[in-house]
Amino acid sequence: MKIRDILKEKTPHISFEIFPPKTDAGYDSVLAATEKIAALKPSFISVTYGAGGGTSKNTVSIASHIKDDFDVTSLAHLTCVSSTKDEVHQVIEQLKENEIENILALRGDIPKGREFPLPNHYRYACELIEDIKTQGDFCIGAACYPEGHVEMEHKKDDIINLKHKVDCGVDFLTTQMFFDNNIMYNFLYRIREKGIVVPVLPGIMPVTNKKQIARIGGMSGTALPERFRAIVDRFGDDPKAMQQAGIAYATDQIIDLIANGINHIHVYSMNKPEVAEAIMRNLSEIVKS
Ligand code: FAD
Repeated sequence: MKIRDILKEKTPHISFEIFPPKTDAGYDSVLAATEKIAALKPSFISVTYGAGGGTSKNTVSIASHIKDDFDVTSLAHLTCVSSTKDEVHQVIEQLKENEIENILALRGDIPKGREFPLPNHYRYACELIEDIKTQGDFCIGAACYPEGHVEMEHKKDDIINLKHKVDCGVDFLTTQMFFDNNIMYNFLYRIREKGIVVPVLPGIMPVTNKKQIARIGGMSGTALPERFRAIVDRFGDDPKAMQQAGIAYATDQIIDLIANGINHIHVYSMNKPEVAEAIMRNLSEIVKS
């Protein structure tokens, strides 16, 4: 099913994200985790794609299992920063062969110290999106950044680029994670004002351990509200307490978003079925699968 049709539904929906294993050795355990998450009957499951190529080869395969064996709509991410146009075309062909209808079209992070763009590569996600449109009847999603993309000094320029990207043929947007819903509401106001009217799925990350917090801290631009910091200060050294508090914080964000009229929320559950299950349990009367 195309995600743009799922997004027409007016009742609350949750989707989850899976990242493929770094090596083939991890394939079976990722697939087992995916199966458990699929059993929660989310609106779709997305599968990330390594910008450097390393974790990309299993994306199509896991996305196919989600759709064919677990009976859940799948969304395959596709980054282009480290691939030639011909290589990207081959992946699009594989997606077509496997009847995967939904692609999240991304540029990927530019590898440090490398000439960019290399000849016969795409420069921005918008170029990839234009190309995908010519390759088949896909539903195309793209990324957006409520706090601005790190390469852009001014948020307004990022929104101008986002408008251009959406106009190239984007059906929906998914946001970078954020921990303060007011940032999301303000972003929505600003993009709607600029004529970006496609559905926007807020991306919510349940932070369940200290390592994740260090990584988020290293990402420029993601604001960590005082309430969030207090949770980390109090529970960061107690893994079980941190997991419970992180899930509660994410649940709270999701309930607030739904209460404010946003019906489709994407959860970065990081291959952890227990986290996805806890979120769905907390929302059992709010989100009906
Ligand atoms: P673009 O839309 O191309 O934007 C990149 C930068 O270029 C921005 O600063 C933008 O303002 C600017 N820009 C865009 N178009 C133009 C233009 N026409 N002219 C001038 N400037 C322009 N990474 C992975 O490696 N694998 C994944 O699976 C993955 N999944 C993601 C999922 C989501 C929901 C999000 C939010 C991010 C994901 N990323 C993933 C990270 C993403 O690849 C990086 O953030 C990357 O740096 C930007 O990708 P993009 O598609 O947003 O790029």
